[in-house]
Formats: sequence, C-alpha cells, structure tokens
Amino acid sequence: MRDKYCGSVSKDDIGKTITLSGWVFRRRDHGGLAFVDLRDVSGIVQIVFSPDISKEAHEKAGELKQEFVITITGKVDRRPDGTENMNMPTGEIEIYVTSFEVLNTCKTLPFQIDEEEPNEALRLKYRYLDMRRDEVRKAFIVRSNAYKTIRDYLSENNFFEFETPMLTKSTPEGARDFIVPSRLNPANFYALPQSPQLFKQILMIGGFDRYFQIVRCFRDEDLRADRQPEFTQIDIEMSFVDVDDIVRMGEGLVKAVYESITGNVLETPIPRMGYDDAMELYGTDKPDLRFDLSMTDLTDIFHETELGVFKKTVEEKGAIKAFVLKGKTLSRKDLDTAVETAKEMGAGGLIWIRNENNTLQSPIVKFLNDGEKASMSERLGIASGDVIFIMAGPRNATNEIMGKFRLYLGGKYDLIEKDLYKFLWIVDFPLLEYSEEEKRYTARHHPFTSAKESVRTFQGDYDAIKAKAYDLVLNGVEIGGGSIRIFRMDEQMAMFKLINMSEEEASEKFGFLLEALEMGAPPHGGIAFGFDRLLMMLLRLDSIRDVIPFPKTQKGTCLMTGAPSRVSSKQLNELKIKTTIV
Ligand code: ASP
Repeated sequence: MRDKYCGSVSKDDIGKTITLSGWVFRRRDHGGLAFVDLRDVSGIVQIVFSPDISKEAHEKAGELKQEFVITITGKVDRRPDGTENMNMPTGEIEIYVTSFEVLNTCKTLPFQIDEEEPNEALRLKYRYLDMRRDEVRKAFIVRSNAYKTIRDYLSENNFFEFETPMLTKSTPEGARDFIVPSRLNPANFYALPQSPQLFKQILMIGGFDRYFQIVRCFRDEDLRADRQPEFTQIDIEMSFVDVDDIVRMGEGLVKAVYESITGNVLETPIPRMGYDDAMELYGTDKPDLRFDLSMTDLTDIFHETELGVFKKTVEEKGAIKAFVLKGKTLSRKDLDTAVETAKEMGAGGLIWIRNENNTLQSPIVKFLNDGEKASMSERLGIASGDVIFIMAGPRNATNEIMGKFRLYLGGKYDLIEKDLYKFLWIVDFPLLEYSEEEKRYTARHHPFTSAKESVRTFQGDYDAIKAKAYDLVLNGVEIGGGSIRIFRMDEQMAMFKLINMSEEEASEKFGFLLEALEMGAPPHGGIAFGFDRLLMMLLRLDSIRDVIPFPKTQKGTCLMTGAPSRVSSKQLNELKIKTTIV
C-alpha cells in the first residue's frame, strides 16, 4: 500500500510518482489548493490537492477530516521558493496528489493530536490516539530500539536469553505478591513473580553460565510516579564471578543503552561509593551528585559545648552534621522557611549560622566559645556570605533527614545542574536491616545475598555485616541493583537463621533451592536494572507511564480496558472462590 514512509520522502524523489499511506494530520486550504500533512510512524510529509493536477482529487479532498486514514498517489516536487520548512525533514518537498482513497474515517476526537498535552486520564483511555502524538511515539520507538541494544550487547558477551515462569511460587523481594488462583488445585495459588530471582540462580546451577531476560515483574505496592504494579527489568545472572565482574558488565550495558539514546559518551568506570560514606556525606543510599553539597561531621568539635542540643547529642553518642550553602543571599524569611521545612522532614530543629563579613550570626552563637567557632569555620571552610545549616541527634536519623534537607536546598537554591547525568555505584551495603514492624532483622536486599565474610560462624553486631551487594544510581534514583549470591547450602541456612527463619519454613519455601545448592552450585551473582525507570531518566520524562505503552493508573487500573474488573460467578465457581463483597 505504499512505496515508502512519509518521513523518508526526500529531494532524491523529486519527479517520481509515489504512493503513500497514513493519517490526515492537519489540513489547510488556501489559494484554491488544499494542503494536508500526511503522517505515519516515520513522520510527516506535505501533500497538495490542486485542481490543475486532478480536479476529481481536489474536489474529493473536501471530505478529508482529521485522522482519516488515506492512501495517495502523487508526484514529488520541490516546494516553491520561500515556502520550504526547514524545521521538518521533508520540508523542502511536497507531493501533488493525482489520486487517493479514503481507507477509513474518524469520528470527532476526544482531544487534538497536535495540540497541547491532554489530561492523563484521556491519554490513557485513548492510548491509541495518545500514541499518535509525536513525543509519545518517539519515546516508544526509543524503547523498542533499546531492546535491540541490550540484546546485542549481552549476546556479544555470551549471555543466553531464557524465559522464566509467570505462574510461580512466591519468592520474597520485599513486596506483596499478586496471586492467581489455580482451578486444577482449588484453594492453591500461584504468585506472579516479583522477579525471576531463584530461577536465574537455578539456571546458573544448571550450568548456563550467563543468563539474561528482559522480563516483566509484578509487585503489589502502593504506586508512585516512578512505580508500576507490573514493570520491566533487564535481569542478569553470571557464574564464577565476584562484585567487580558484575559491576563491569552492568556498566558496559548501561553505557551501551545510554550512548544509543543520548548520543553522548558515558565515561566508565562509573565511580563507586561505599554505603557508609553515602550515608555520612549525603544522608541517602542514592545520592544525587548533580550538585556537590555534602555533609561535614562537626561532632568532635563540640565535645565540651555549652549549647544544650549539642551537649545532649554528644552525651547520647549522636552526630552533629552541617551543610554550607555558598554564594546565595538568604533573607530571614528564607531561613525561617528552611527551619520549618526541616521540621516537616522530621528534624527536631535546624540551626542556621550566617557568616556576615567574617562574624558569625545566629541565635545560638552566644553559646559557642571562640575555639568552637574557629574550629567549625576552619573545618567548613566558610567565607563571608555563606550560610551553615546544622542538625544534631541520633546519627542515622540525622543523616537521613539531612539527606532530605539536602534535596530541598538543591531544588530551592537551584544547585542542581539539570542537564547532567550522574551515575554512581553504591557498594558494601549492610546485609541486614532491622524491621521495627516485624521486630527482627530482615535481609536488606534479599536472603540469597552473600555477606562479605561467611555468616556461618557469625556472632556479634548484626548491623556491621556487609553484603556483596551493589546498586546503580542515576541522578538520585536507583536504576539497578543486585548481589553476589550465597552458593552453599550451609551458608544459606546460616543466613536464614540470622533472619529468624526456621529450618521448616526455609525448606517449605525454598526447599528446591537448598537441594540444588547441594548439587554442585557454582559461585554466581547478578543484577537487575529497572528498564522503564532507566528509559524515563534517559529521556528526561517525569513519569514512568510515559515510557510504558499500556501503563496502569496510580490506583492500579487500566483506563483503556477497564481492568481490574469483576468476573462472572461461573468463573468464580470453577475456582471455588467466594468473595465477601457482593
Ligand atoms: N532480583 C533482584 C531484584 O529484583 C535483583 C538481583 O538481585 O539480581 O531486585
């Protein structure tokens, strides 16, 4: 039905008669001629209906409305001098229509394809119309090309691609499962995979050495702008490796995707930072390094302080941490707002100190002695005009609140260089974390993650055990994470014991893995990247929904199909399911 795509007609075609098919994008009539921008997946080309070329076609063109589907035949010509449009790739030519056919009509549209962005509910309900919009189409094409980049890179590196089951047994990645009833096994349920974690480990035990899959994962969590109940991971596992091998392979992959999408070079190796340093300097395990504001620890300077909050903090072995904001003029009102903001973030308080012509100004300065003032000024390297913000309290909580406050300062005082891409590996995570809710230690990553040293004989401080786990962070957002796995049964049992899982529970849930670990399991490890999130970041879009063809709303619904929905009582009866809601 066509000789080429609309967007690929060029000056080389001048003089040729060609056939094109597509949608009527815009139409204008002037000077007795009708102009239509004809659009297909590749772009737009201008077609002209002239009574001098075809009286019949020109008359029939009167019927054409927006988004009619047509096929045309016509002659390619240079646009008259002065009417070229250098902003479009086909802007130097136009096509004089000799004949055309309307293949389908279009009703009045719920929104205009070529105007401002419609509201999101309409975009999702009429996703097929939304997809015809230029930026949406381009984002999905980038997504499609990225699959190829990923497959090329990984197959060049000897990876095998496998699919793993969607109907499976639940493996914990820390979220709630979506479950699917089994008709053949009444009262039994499958879980949709939160990730293929155990299957990829089993593939390593099966000897496949390197696996990848671009795979859908399901987590029944509360949704945010960068979360979806079903999302896509680039899932990777490798045998006979340690942390460095995965990190290098992972950054090679991200480099390939980054470079193909942005056209820029990504310098590797990507810097690495230990988890403890990240927390001490930036108050988060996903620091946004597009601005270099970092925290300084002042605790030791105030060991003999008179100031109440500092004194208490020192006595309770907490931390006194500071940021210095340079080169900004802050009014009293700005400072009050900063204090309010810090409190809303959970801080007990925020101290500010202004350096005005080398004298320190703040309601608290009178409580500081000259030695403290001098040491603090020196350590912070402050100059006239700088503002110091200080929080004091329990170390972890203070770091975390300062981390949030850092992002506030970054946004409010325009510190973030928005056009940068700052990648960072965070390594040496704690193996465990204490769950207040469950009153026990749980695995911070997942319970198949190995510790830097064996946990078989471990006794002592649970918080101090480091994991062979790593996350890749881009501009303050986690885009991937993984670990080197436990590959021996005794070690795996010791890990389960640390997180208070009994032998019975372990064998009930993971018996197949434990058995496999005893039959020649090789050392292995892996990583998974959030494909949607990575695309969202590289395309600088605000919502993960903008890179997913058919996303769900924040409430987990699909506005186009109406899912989730009630099912018939026949279906429920077959499944032996009764709901409590009628
Ligand atoms: N399965 C993990 C996740 O989905 C990633 C990994 O450890 O490879 O977070």
